[in-house]
Amino acid sequence: MNINFYGGADEVGRSCIEISNGREKLIMDCGVKIGNDEEYPLMKRVPKNIIITHTHLDHAGYLPHIFRRKINRKIFLTQPTRDLMQLMIADYMRVSRNKFDNSKVLNNILSCCRVMNYNELSGTKIKFSLHNSGHILGSASVLVHSNRGNLLYTSDLNTRNSRIVNSAEQGLKAKTLIIESTYGGKDDILPPMKDACNEIVMIINNALKKNGRVLIPSFAVGRAQELILLLDSYMKNGIVEPAPIYIDGMIKKALKIFRHNVIYAKEELQRSILVSDVDPFKSKYVFIPKRRDRKDAIQEGSIIITTSGMLKGGPVKTYLKALANDKKNVLLFVGYQAAGTPGRKVLDGAKIVKLNGSEIKINMSIKNVSLSAHADHNGLMQYINKIKGLEQVFIVHGEEKKRKELAESIEKCDVILPKNGEKYRV
Ligand SMILES: [Zn+2]
Ligand SMILES: [Zn+2]
Repeated sequence: MNINFYGGADEVGRSCIEISNGREKLIMDCGVKIGNDEEYPLMKRVPKNIIITHTHLDHAGYLPHIFRRKINRKIFLTQPTRDLMQLMIADYMRVSRNKFDNSKVLNNILSCCRVMNYNELSGTKIKFSLHNSGHILGSASVLVHSNRGNLLYTSDLNTRNSRIVNSAEQGLKAKTLIIESTYGGKDDILPPMKDACNEIVMIINNALKKNGRVLIPSFAVGRAQELILLLDSYMKNGIVEPAPIYIDGMIKKALKIFRHNVIYAKEELQRSILVSDVDPFKSKYVFIPKRRDRKDAIQEGSIIITTSGMLKGGPVKTYLKALANDKKNVLLFVGYQAAGTPGRKVLDGAKIVKLNGSEIKINMSIKNVSLSAHADHNGLMQYINKIKGLEQVFIVHGEEKKRKELAESIEKCDVILPKNGEKYRV
């Protein structure tokens, strides 16, 4: 088997890996890298088969570029990924500097989608199956089956249960592993979920007590839904002072898709939605402001969860502009902030950020609690150690330091840190 790393090898963004066996080729993911300039996979020709592991733009954002015109390709993915992807891609095209014929592109993409269940074997020449990766609803790792030894691509991986999805399937059999390393650094030991939640409670209660507002930038899909579930149950139980939770951006539409695909969620969540009358996705504390009503969302004593997660665009900019100057307010990061994004700059201590050309002075308090949807150093090591028959590991999807530190911890097999544009034979 040949592996071509077209993107996302030595960086977080534009994930795209090609596998070929002489008879057939396929790519696993085709994302974009959103930084100061958008970057794309280094792929010249798009193979017939495309696997999309999950809907985040660093894994699926390049699709509209491929499907500008109707082309004969197959896109393999799970049902929730297919549904959520429509939302993410429509939004991507809307804000993109590139001009797309939006509905035509979406139709082109959807007509090529082939939905697969977890553990189902593909009908392609290169046989593969998708396995729960625990990252977001419907996210998948790819197991490529081969007589000469399987290849496993983790994509984004979470080895802990979240409120919505079960942790990644572990113990798969593979000779070659391609693993992500977003939190692979030796200091990346994330606090137990319970501690992280307690910290969030403390931060929110403190801010609300002072009539401050808590602004939480979030991806539309994943953490936002986790947070809504978390805050709804804490408010019901009196752990967090009841307060209006305003959600803005695509988070609301994504919530609907989560409800439709609840059979991919954890059993207790399925049961509560399908069997009982309790629907945590329809919280009485949640409000959805219209664009003109955003000023209401910024009334004192409120919580705002909005896109984008790294302050790169979306309604979060409007809220930040309005809230940044007041010391009582809190900007609470709960997810990964990629290098070069405004979110990362603020987190690293920048007191002034530039958004859409205007400068915003940051006086509000900055907090960071990881509710990460990625495995940490120990989680990744545990995952690696459980794989049966492992001989070599490629570490991708991480900053250089993190990839190196994860590599140093792996003793039982060969470790390779590939770069974009490199080709390997396994
Ligand atoms: Zn992801
Ligand atoms: Zn990713």
